[in-house]
Amino acid sequence: MICVLSGGTGGAKFVDGLRQVMPAEEITIVVNTGDDLLWWGLYVSPDIDSITYVLSGLLSRERGWGVKGDTFLCLQAMGQLGEPTWFHTGDRDLAVHLLRSRLLAEGKTLSQATAIICEKLSVKARILPMSDSKVETRVDTPSGELSFEEYFVQRWYQDPVNSVRFAGADDAHPAPGVVEAIVSADAVIVAPSNPITSIGPILAVPGIRDALLRARGKVAAVSPIVGNAPVAGPAGILMAAQGLPCSIAGVAKAYEDFLDLLVCDARDARAAESLRQSGVRVQCTQTIMRSASDRAELARMVLAHTVGPKTDQRPSEESSSNEAAARGADQP
Ligand code: GDP
Repeated sequence: MICVLSGGTGGAKFVDGLRQVMPAEEITIVVNTGDDLLWWGLYVSPDIDSITYVLSGLLSRERGWGVKGDTFLCLQAMGQLGEPTWFHTGDRDLAVHLLRSRLLAEGKTLSQATAIICEKLSVKARILPMSDSKVETRVDTPSGELSFEEYFVQRWYQDPVNSVRFAGADDAHPAPGVVEAIVSADAVIVAPSNPITSIGPILAVPGIRDALLRARGKVAAVSPIVGNAPVAGPAGILMAAQGLPCSIAGVAKAYEDFLDLLVCDARDARAAESLRQSGVRVQCTQTIMRSASDRAELARMVLAHTVGPKTDQRPSEESSSNEAAARGADQP
């Protein structure tokens, strides 16, 4: 069993790679719910949706979110009714939000609702929300505190950021199965997701960091930062706000207490060398996932370096980074 900690975009691409190279039944994904929101009265869980859609083959590859080929008639009609339309939900996507909201209203937990939706969409992997308790990522800006979706989608992450906090995290509990999945996995892989607003909320749930420290398998992370910049999105701004450099060293620092291996891009080979000097185990490869085969290749490489006993001999970082450099790392 492989356990992945994930947000919704970089995470979904990586999970797509994994499901190409191993049986989906052997993958458990612990997903961030700090971005969840009530939209038009419906419970939307953007990262759970992206992971569910990628695993059911429904994810729109062009947009990277929502259902492929979806229509937006309801969004249009809501606009005509004077309702907010900044958060785009397609019609088929809405069906999932409607079903989840009904299940929650009937008293199901978010984990139970997620399992029911996954079963209906024939998802073979196990998707676990990080918690069934409400944990909300709050972004403090000079204009006031915003939810993550207000900051990211409504305001296009243009606001300067003072800090980020996870409201409710102190009283939250890991969802059923999360701690066991992390502790017993053959390997735990932190997806190339935003370290602050996708992985940060997961780590803020009491008990999850401790589970990572107790993990039987190796814990690896794939860096979402390439060449001192995020491949996409506000990770750099948010890392700076939390006192971390926007670099592979910043990613290593965010995960330093539990990390066995950092997988970074071939383009960061020099920075990787200085990280190794400071004792971090680093593997360089091509990490930009443009095509299905890029995703599969990255997943295969990460598995090759993580599955196996923790006491394994270090694989030859040198040869792999040279191979990757020879293949050439493309621009994002
Ligand atoms: P969110 O929930 O939409 O924020 O999604 P994630 O946190 O899972 O993914 C966002 C992160 O994915 C960003 O910080 C990007 O830098 C990273 N990312 C996106 N595509 C790629 C890729 O192809 N390779 C790598 N290494 N990182 C990526």
